[in-house]
Amino acid sequence: MKTKIITRAQQVLMAGILFLALTLSGCSKENEQIVTSSDETLTKEAILDYSFTDYTLKISTCQVDTFPYEPLSQVETDALIKMREEEYVAHDVYIALSQLYTKPVFRNIARSEQVHADAIKLLITKYNLIDPAANHVAGIFTNPDLQVLYNSLVTLGSTSLLNGVIVGTTIEDLDIYDLKNLLTVVDNQDITFTFNNLMRGSGFHLRSFYANVLFLGGTYTPQYLTQAEFDAIINSKN
Ligand code: ZN
Ligand code: ZN
Repeated sequence: MKTKIITRAQQVLMAGILFLALTLSGCSKENEQIVTSSDETLTKEAILDYSFTDYTLKISTCQVDTFPYEPLSQVETDALIKMREEEYVAHDVYIALSQLYTKPVFRNIARSEQVHADAIKLLITKYNLIDPAANHVAGIFTNPDLQVLYNSLVTLGSTSLLNGVIVGTTIEDLDIYDLKNLLTVVDNQDITFTFNNLMRGSGFHLRSFYANVLFLGGTYTPQYLTQAEFDAIINSKN
Protein backbone atom coordinates (compact mmCIF):
# COMPACT_ATOMS: atom_id res chain seq x y z
CA MET A 1 0.00 0.00 0.00
CA LYS A 2 2.77 2.36 1.00
CA THR A 3 4.71 1.54 -2.17
CA LYS A 4 1.60 2.28 -4.19
CA ILE A 5 1.20 5.74 -2.65
CA ILE A 6 4.81 6.62 -3.38
CA THR A 7 4.43 5.39 -6.92
CA ARG A 8 1.35 7.53 -7.39
CA ALA A 9 3.15 10.55 -5.95
CA GLN A 10 6.09 9.88 -8.23
CA GLN A 11 3.77 9.62 -11.19
CA VAL A 12 2.22 12.98 -10.38
CA LEU A 13 5.66 14.50 -9.95
CA MET A 14 6.90 13.04 -13.22
CA ALA A 15 3.81 14.25 -15.04
CA GLY A 16 4.36 17.71 -13.55
CA ILE A 17 7.98 17.83 -14.63
CA LEU A 18 7.08 16.60 -18.10
CA PHE A 19 4.33 19.20 -18.42
CA LEU A 20 6.67 21.95 -17.27
CA ALA A 21 9.38 20.83 -19.68
CA LEU A 22 6.93 20.77 -22.58
CA THR A 23 5.51 24.16 -21.65
CA LEU A 24 8.93 25.77 -21.36
CA SER A 25 10.37 24.30 -24.53
CA GLY A 26 7.11 24.32 -26.48
CA CYS A 27 7.13 28.05 -27.15
CA SER A 28 9.42 28.27 -30.15
CA LYS A 29 10.28 24.77 -31.31
CA GLU A 30 6.72 23.60 -31.74
CA ASN A 31 6.01 26.84 -33.50
CA GLU A 32 8.64 26.51 -36.20
CA GLN A 33 7.49 23.02 -37.05
CA ILE A 34 3.86 24.01 -37.38
CA VAL A 35 4.56 27.09 -39.48
CA THR A 36 6.52 24.97 -41.95
CA SER A 37 4.00 22.17 -42.18
CA SER A 38 0.93 24.41 -42.36
CA ASP A 39 2.66 26.53 -44.96
CA GLU A 40 3.18 23.56 -47.24
CA THR A 41 -0.42 22.43 -46.96
CA LEU A 42 -2.08 25.83 -47.38
CA THR A 43 -4.81 25.83 -49.98
CA LYS A 44 -5.52 28.77 -52.22
CA GLU A 45 -8.78 29.34 -50.34
CA ALA A 46 -6.98 29.35 -47.00
CA ILE A 47 -4.60 32.00 -48.29
CA LEU A 48 -7.38 34.11 -49.82
CA ASP A 49 -9.49 33.96 -46.64
CA TYR A 50 -6.55 33.87 -44.22
CA SER A 51 -8.40 30.97 -42.61
CA PHE A 52 -5.32 29.01 -41.53
CA THR A 53 -4.06 29.17 -37.96
CA ASP A 54 -1.44 31.85 -37.53
CA TYR A 55 1.13 30.19 -35.32
CA THR A 56 3.43 33.21 -35.39
CA LEU A 57 1.01 34.81 -32.95
CA LYS A 58 1.45 32.52 -30.01
CA ILE A 59 5.10 32.95 -29.23
CA SER A 60 5.34 36.64 -28.45
CA THR A 61 3.00 36.45 -25.53
CA CYS A 62 4.55 33.15 -24.56
CA GLN A 63 8.16 34.27 -24.49
CA VAL A 64 8.50 37.99 -23.80
CA ASP A 65 9.03 37.48 -20.08
CA THR A 66 11.69 34.83 -20.60
CA PHE A 67 14.00 37.55 -22.00
CA PRO A 68 16.03 39.74 -19.63
CA TYR A 69 15.03 43.26 -18.68
CA GLU A 70 17.57 45.50 -20.44
CA PRO A 71 17.85 49.30 -20.38
CA LEU A 72 15.56 50.90 -22.95
CA SER A 73 17.03 53.47 -25.38
CA GLN A 74 14.98 56.44 -26.58
CA VAL A 75 14.80 54.85 -30.03
CA GLU A 76 13.37 51.68 -28.50
CA THR A 77 10.85 53.64 -26.46
CA ASP A 78 9.71 55.51 -29.57
CA ALA A 79 9.54 52.28 -31.55
CA LEU A 80 7.26 50.60 -29.02
CA ILE A 81 5.00 53.64 -28.72
CA LYS A 82 4.69 53.92 -32.50
CA MET A 83 4.22 50.22 -33.26
CA ARG A 84 1.62 49.79 -30.52
CA GLU A 85 -0.66 52.21 -32.37
CA GLU A 86 0.40 51.14 -35.86
CA GLU A 87 -0.86 47.64 -35.10
CA TYR A 88 -4.16 49.21 -34.10
CA VAL A 89 -4.30 51.16 -37.37
CA ALA A 90 -4.14 47.81 -39.19
CA HIS A 91 -6.70 46.27 -36.84
CA ASP A 92 -9.17 49.15 -37.03
CA VAL A 93 -8.93 49.56 -40.83
CA TYR A 94 -9.61 45.83 -41.31
CA ILE A 95 -12.54 45.92 -38.88
CA ALA A 96 -13.99 48.94 -40.72
CA LEU A 97 -13.60 47.17 -44.08
CA SER A 98 -15.03 43.91 -42.68
CA GLN A 99 -18.23 45.82 -42.05
CA LEU A 100 -18.43 46.76 -45.74
CA TYR A 101 -17.25 43.52 -47.37
CA THR A 102 -18.08 39.93 -46.51
CA LYS A 103 -14.66 38.58 -47.53
CA PRO A 104 -13.34 36.80 -44.39
CA VAL A 105 -9.78 38.05 -44.98
CA PHE A 106 -10.49 41.37 -43.24
CA ARG A 107 -11.94 40.04 -40.02
CA ASN A 108 -9.49 37.12 -39.88
CA ILE A 109 -6.44 39.34 -40.22
CA ALA A 110 -7.98 41.90 -37.83
CA ARG A 111 -7.97 39.17 -35.18
CA SER A 112 -4.29 38.64 -35.83
CA GLU A 113 -3.58 42.40 -35.56
CA GLN A 114 -5.21 42.47 -32.14
CA VAL A 115 -2.69 39.85 -31.04
CA HIS A 116 0.12 41.96 -32.54
CA ALA A 117 -1.08 45.04 -30.61
CA ASP A 118 -1.31 42.91 -27.44
CA ALA A 119 2.25 41.61 -27.96
CA ILE A 120 3.58 45.20 -27.97
CA LYS A 121 1.45 46.00 -24.94
CA LEU A 122 3.38 43.29 -23.06
CA LEU A 123 6.61 45.19 -23.75
CA ILE A 124 5.03 48.53 -22.86
CA THR A 125 3.99 47.05 -19.53
CA LYS A 126 7.34 45.33 -18.98
CA TYR A 127 9.21 48.62 -19.50
CA ASN A 128 6.69 50.72 -17.60
CA LEU A 129 5.89 53.02 -20.52
CA ILE A 130 2.72 55.04 -20.86
CA ASP A 131 0.49 53.12 -23.24
CA PRO A 132 -0.62 55.39 -26.12
CA ALA A 133 -3.49 52.99 -26.76
CA ALA A 134 -4.77 52.65 -23.19
CA ASN A 135 -8.58 52.57 -23.48
CA HIS A 136 -8.19 52.51 -27.26
CA VAL A 137 -11.25 53.66 -29.19
CA ALA A 138 -11.50 52.25 -32.74
CA GLY A 139 -10.27 54.74 -35.34
CA ILE A 140 -8.81 57.23 -32.83
CA PHE A 141 -5.00 57.59 -32.53
CA THR A 142 -2.73 59.80 -30.42
CA ASN A 143 -0.05 59.80 -33.15
CA PRO A 144 -1.30 62.43 -35.67
CA ASP A 145 0.50 60.78 -38.61
CA LEU A 146 -1.23 57.49 -37.88
CA GLN A 147 -4.56 59.32 -37.59
CA VAL A 148 -4.11 60.80 -41.08
CA LEU A 149 -3.03 57.40 -42.39
CA TYR A 150 -6.04 55.64 -40.87
CA ASN A 151 -8.49 58.18 -42.27
CA SER A 152 -7.06 58.02 -45.79
CA LEU A 153 -6.87 54.21 -45.84
CA VAL A 154 -10.45 53.74 -44.70
CA THR A 155 -11.63 56.30 -47.27
CA LEU A 156 -9.76 54.57 -50.10
CA GLY A 157 -10.64 51.05 -48.96
CA SER A 158 -14.33 51.92 -48.79
CA THR A 159 -14.56 52.71 -52.50
CA SER A 160 -14.44 49.06 -53.71
CA LEU A 161 -13.50 45.57 -52.58
CA LEU A 162 -10.42 45.68 -54.83
CA ASN A 163 -9.32 48.94 -53.21
CA GLY A 164 -10.06 47.33 -49.84
CA VAL A 165 -7.56 44.52 -50.43
CA ILE A 166 -5.09 46.99 -51.98
CA VAL A 167 -5.33 48.98 -48.74
CA GLY A 168 -4.64 45.75 -46.82
CA THR A 169 -1.58 45.11 -48.98
CA THR A 170 -0.42 48.71 -48.43
CA ILE A 171 -0.73 48.43 -44.63
CA GLU A 172 1.31 45.22 -44.56
CA ASP A 173 3.86 46.76 -46.97
CA LEU A 174 4.27 49.68 -44.52
CA ASP A 175 4.22 47.47 -41.43
CA ILE A 176 7.01 45.21 -42.70
CA TYR A 177 9.01 48.24 -43.88
CA ASP A 178 8.74 49.92 -40.45
CA LEU A 179 9.56 46.75 -38.50
CA LYS A 180 12.49 46.00 -40.78
CA ASN A 181 13.94 49.49 -40.27
CA LEU A 182 13.32 49.47 -36.54
CA LEU A 183 15.07 46.11 -36.25
CA THR A 184 18.29 47.84 -37.35
CA VAL A 185 18.14 50.26 -34.39
CA VAL A 186 16.66 48.24 -31.49
CA ASP A 187 18.72 45.65 -29.64
CA ASN A 188 16.84 44.51 -26.55
CA GLN A 189 16.27 40.79 -27.02
CA ASP A 190 12.55 40.86 -26.20
CA ILE A 191 11.90 43.71 -28.66
CA THR A 192 13.95 42.11 -31.43
CA PHE A 193 12.17 38.83 -30.85
CA THR A 194 8.70 40.41 -30.89
CA PHE A 195 9.37 42.61 -33.93
CA ASN A 196 10.77 39.66 -35.90
CA ASN A 197 7.71 37.68 -35.01
CA LEU A 198 5.32 40.46 -35.99
CA MET A 199 7.21 40.91 -39.24
CA ARG A 200 6.82 37.22 -40.03
CA GLY A 201 3.07 37.44 -39.28
CA SER A 202 2.84 40.54 -41.50
CA GLY A 203 4.45 38.53 -44.30
CA PHE A 204 1.56 36.07 -44.11
CA HIS A 205 -0.90 38.97 -44.11
CA LEU A 206 0.82 40.53 -47.11
CA ARG A 207 0.60 37.29 -49.05
CA SER A 208 -3.12 36.91 -48.30
CA PHE A 209 -4.05 40.46 -49.26
CA TYR A 210 -1.89 40.38 -52.38
CA ALA A 211 -3.43 37.06 -53.43
CA ASN A 212 -6.81 38.78 -53.19
CA VAL A 213 -5.60 41.71 -55.29
CA LEU A 214 -4.53 39.30 -58.05
CA PHE A 215 -7.69 37.20 -57.66
CA LEU A 216 -9.78 40.32 -58.28
CA GLY A 217 -7.72 41.19 -61.36
CA GLY A 218 -5.81 44.06 -59.75
CA THR A 219 -2.14 44.93 -59.47
CA TYR A 220 -0.03 46.32 -56.64
CA THR A 221 3.28 48.17 -56.75
CA PRO A 222 5.06 48.28 -53.37
CA GLN A 223 4.93 51.75 -51.84
CA TYR A 224 7.41 51.23 -48.99
CA LEU A 225 9.37 48.00 -49.55
CA THR A 226 11.48 47.64 -52.68
CA GLN A 227 10.06 45.44 -55.44
CA ALA A 228 12.79 42.89 -54.67
CA GLU A 229 11.90 42.80 -50.95
CA PHE A 230 8.22 42.53 -51.79
CA ASP A 231 8.79 39.68 -54.26
CA ALA A 232 10.99 37.84 -51.78
CA ILE A 233 8.16 37.84 -49.20
CA ILE A 234 5.47 36.85 -51.70
CA ASN A 235 7.58 33.97 -52.98
CA SER A 236 8.94 32.85 -49.60
CA LYS A 237 7.97 29.53 -48.07
CA ASN A 238 7.68 30.85 -44.54
ZN1 ZN B 1 0.44 43.41 -37.41
ZN1 ZN C 1 -0.70 42.60 -40.53
